[in-house]
Amino acid sequence: MIEHPAILNDVTLCIGCEECVAACKRTHGLALEDQAPREGASPDGLNATRWTSVVRLPNHANVRKQCRHCADPACVSACPVGALQKTPEGPVVYDKSKCMGCRYCMMSCPFGIPRYDWGSLTPSVRKCVMCYDELRSGRLDRPACVSACPAKATAFGTRAEMLAEAGRRIAERPKLYLPRIWGVDEVGGTSVLYVSHVDLAMLGWRPPSVLGDKPLPERTWDALRQVPFEFFGMGALMTGVWWIIDRRQRLAGGTGPGDESPGRGAAGSASGSADAAGKGEPS
Ligand code: SF4
Ligand code: SF4
Ligand code: SF4
Repeated sequence: MIEHPAILNDVTLCIGCEECVAACKRTHGLALEDQAPREGASPDGLNATRWTSVVRLPNHANVRKQCRHCADPACVSACPVGALQKTPEGPVVYDKSKCMGCRYCMMSCPFGIPRYDWGSLTPSVRKCVMCYDELRSGRLDRPACVSACPAKATAFGTRAEMLAEAGRRIAERPKLYLPRIWGVDEVGGTSVLYVSHVDLAMLGWRPPSVLGDKPLPERTWDALRQVPFEFFGMGALMTGVWWIIDRRQRLAGGTGPGDESPGRGAAGSASGSADAAGKGEPS
């Protein structure tokens, strides 16, 4: 299997035939009948038995949607049991046997990709895995969706090759393509890239300006890194408050909150004695 494989989707070429969708379903044994969308679900057509979909924009552009196989995936970072893994070659895969169904991955993905198998008695998270097992074992030399496309709207190669191909297409037809390759830097870069004649802000949950180029796990760590300091800082503050109260009470001639003297412990001793007495034990 090639290192750092990538898929390039060319929106200008896609005719919306959904051969890619059908090929994915056949290859991965997914039900041909799609589950009915849940109320409030994203209308992008992805679901547990449809790992790639074609979003039809009002201006007749067809945009194939699938997992972007991020360089630094937020879903992997969010999964507390390691059910989602970034493979050494690049694709992001999923191990159902580890998944505990918390769905943190679904909340963390900046592109809204993972879907829950609501129709199953033993539900799991489902998404495109870039045909990882098939490519690794040699059963396929490219993802099934790429081979099936009659319009060559989707291509496969190393990420470097796909970036070069995307740049070449834009340079050759600058009047057709927008001067942008989607996936170069977004959230740290992705292995599913796009060139297009229409804006593809719809691919993310948030506008690109909000998503930014920084990997989301890095942002998470920026926040988490502060936790120990906040934790120990709060501990130090509480210790200081305790020390001041204790000192004031000592100066006032009373006993402090940490005083182990008989005066402070009288109530405790009395109840202890009462308990002991009640049990008939010698005082
Ligand atoms: S697109 Fe979402 S599900 Fe796919 S690798 Fe990135 S974070 Fe994970
Ligand atoms: S790469 Fe494989 S798993 Fe992903 S959408 Fe294409 S056929 Fe399906
Ligand atoms: S098979 Fe190719 S042309 Fe047909 S919908 Fe998929 S990407 Fe578009």
